[in-house]
Amino acid sequence: MKHYYVNVKADRRGVHRVHSAGCLFLEERKDRIFLGYFNNSAQALEKAKDYYVNVDVGTCCCREYSNCNIFLVSNREAVSCRH
Ligand SMILES: [Zn+2]
Repeated sequence: MKHYYVNVKADRRGVHRVHSAGCLFLEERKDRIFLGYFNNSAQALEKAKDYYVNVDVGTCCCREYSNCNIFLVSNREAVSCRH
């Protein structure tokens, strides 16, 4: 179980990204909405749809075992998650 948030600011594609607590792509406290405590990112994504139409999970937070640091090397923008 992890805490999940959705970023208030959309990315360049107009998508609001869902991230878990501790993710380096997560915005500052004032620029994110707390979604709740979920088993996985898919559940958090459903909750995020209550706030925004265009939402998706950041690739970095798609899988429980993923590590956001990998993605920082290439690009600060998380791309679409292939669930
Ligand atoms: Zn993330």
